[in-house]
Formats: sequence, structure tokens, C-alpha cells
Amino acid sequence: MTNSIEGKESRAIKKRRKTAQQINTADSFHSRLISPLGTMIGKCKLCGEEKELCKQSHIIPNFMYQDLFDETNRMHAIQRKEGALQKRGYRQTGEYEKDILCHSCDNEALGKLDRYASLILYDGYPKICENRTGLDGMTYTYCAEIDYVQFKLFLLSVLWRASISQRALFAEVQLGPHEERIRRMLLNGEPGDQLKYPCLIMTYLHLKKYPGDVVAQPSRARVNAGYVYKFLIGGMLYLFFISKYIIPEGLKDFSINPKGEMKIIHSPPGLARQVLGNMIGIKLE
Ligand SMILES: [Zn+2]
Repeated sequence: MTNSIEGKESRAIKKRRKTAQQINTADSFHSRLISPLGTMIGKCKLCGEEKELCKQSHIIPNFMYQDLFDETNRMHAIQRKEGALQKRGYRQTGEYEKDILCHSCDNEALGKLDRYASLILYDGYPKICENRTGLDGMTYTYCAEIDYVQFKLFLLSVLWRASISQRALFAEVQLGPHEERIRRMLLNGEPGDQLKYPCLIMTYLHLKKYPGDVVAQPSRARVNAGYVYKFLIGGMLYLFFISKYIIPEGLKDFSINPKGEMKIIHSPPGLARQVLGNMIGIKLE
């Protein structure tokens, strides 16, 4: 999980690859058509059909920023750069990209997942939601009666959207062959079993003294024979395990399961400090 030289080299390679992809996109620009309304006609990255594309597709859905907007409705995001804290300034509507998804995929297919997840994560929708303490003293929130298909696909959609994005904030999210596998899962409405690309959710919001109003640049770490992608959004850390063999044994049943149960881990203070230090370069007491 450290910034090894190897990690730096692979990031440089990926950066070049993203640049190459951007050039390819520019080359194919002329083969695209402009619709009478001035919107782009092109291949949607989700359904693969030639359609009119959206001018704004959110990579991280707006609702996940809702605790981050200040009174003027502006958001403060931070991008990690060479380990230093870099303020990227205020942006009005989070991270979005144009000409990647058709209206039906953006508004209906993914929009439906976003709306459901918003109810679960921010509107207290799960009927059963209890704080519990495990035998080892670890505290967590147990949630039940969640729609497994919709919530699991929502989580995967955030990871997938970050992978297809060309925005610098998502430079480290490169799913390789998993990008196509997850695209098919999203398109076919197939969430797979619990340990197919499981996502652990950890929060430090219960600690109060740590900032809940930051979004960090998603990062990738190699763990044994697989990768873990970390997204820190508004006091919640989303950990995506690309291989089921690398998820810690004791936490396997914390990710959402087909019965609709999920456990959100309460980060101990030391871990919260470490996460915030590593991901956004903030040193905390
Ligand atoms: Zn589409």
C-alpha cells in the first residue's frame, strides 16, 4: 500500500496510456456525427450502440457529494499529487464527463441505480440499521433488507465509470479486462455472488473530528495477486477487491450479500488518520 518506485513507474505508464487513449479519441472525433441539436452521436460505452450521447454523465453521482456542498452549493475536492495536498478549487457539480453514455444508459439504467443507492446511503432507507459490536471489539452498522441487485450494481457502476473516465482524478482506476466484465454485469443486471468484486464500506464519520467534506483521488494498491481500489467520498471509504482471494478473511461477510445484508465498518481513530494521511495528505492528531 506504499508508494514504491514500482508504483510510480506503473503510474507513469498508465498516464502515457491515458494520453494515447485521448489521442485515439481525438482521431475518431471526425468519424462522429453531430446531431441537429448539437449533441454528439457516438458509441455509448455501456450499451455499445451508436446513439446521441449525454453532455454530462457523472462519474461519481452527485448525491454522494451532498454533505460536501457548502452553503453556496459548491464542492471542495482534493486531488493527491506526489503525496502533497493540492486544492483543486471549487466545482459546481462534482466530476462529470461528456460523450461517454447515451441518455438511456445514463438516465435510466445507471440513474435508477444512483437513485436507489441515494436512498440507502443518505436517506436512511434500510428498514433495519443497527450499530453493533463484534467479538473482537470492532464496531459496525448492520443494515438489512437492501436490494442486493441494485445496490451491488450501483457500487460496481461507480468503479466502472471511474475506469472508463479520462479525467485526471481517475487516472489510477484502470480495470483492464475487468472493465468489460463489469460492463456486461451492468448491462445484463447481473450482480454476481457476494464475493464477485466485493466492496467493503468503511466510515469515520462517527469520529466527528475528522473532515467529512473531502473527496480524494481514487487510488489503486496491489495486494498479493490482485488489486484494491480505494474511493474516499464524504467520510466513507469504498474498497473494491478485484479478486475475492485478497479480501481479508474476517471481513468477507461485510460486503453486501444476496440476502440484502451489509455491514459498514466504523474505522478506529488510528486507521482513519492513516487513510486520510495516505489518501489526501492530511496530517491529523
Ligand atoms: Zn447506452
